[in-house]
Amino acid sequence: MSTIRLDFVSQDHMVFSGDVNEVLAPGIEGQLGILPKHAPLMTILSPGEVVVKREGQPDLLFAVSGGWMEVRPDKITILARTAERSDEIDLQRAEAARARAEQLLAQGPPREERASLEMALRRSQIRLKVARRRAAQRPSGPEFQQADLER
Ligand code: ATP
Repeated sequence: MSTIRLDFVSQDHMVFSGDVNEVLAPGIEGQLGILPKHAPLMTILSPGEVVVKREGQPDLLFAVSGGWMEVRPDKITILARTAERSDEIDLQRAEAARARAEQLLAQGPPREERASLEMALRRSQIRLKVARRRAAQRPSGPEFQQADLER
């Protein structure tokens, strides 16, 4: 099975770097599937889920809050605003962020504030979704091997 290099960084850290078989990423018009030898592409990423597929290994799930992705036939570069591995998402923090955003939105804030609250709500919803999806898929055992974390 052919592979493509993935370099995935956020504003504050290297998220993942390695050879992979496929990457699913949240393009502005929906989830994009990128395979080796994909046509060159540059796109904005929406808040959403990034899935990294590697042969014979469990999928790696990440929550991103937006960013950019550049695809070349042999390399994918993701520059995310923020990115968390599914196993490092703090559920309580995401629940609290969601509750806070929902509560403030219910108070009918001015338009400029509303947009930023809606983005905060979206980020929390994505984090909750990714963390819960991981819990459903991997009730036991980590999918992130030590080698992935040290890259
Ligand atoms: P909060 O209100 O909880 O800070 P936020 O959406 O405003 O959430 P961001 O500005 O998107 O937070 O992220 C700030 C930093 O905190 C980033 O490094 C991000 O990866 C991390 N982060 C945010 N929420 C979580 C979470 N629930 N679990 C783990 N890391 C998180």
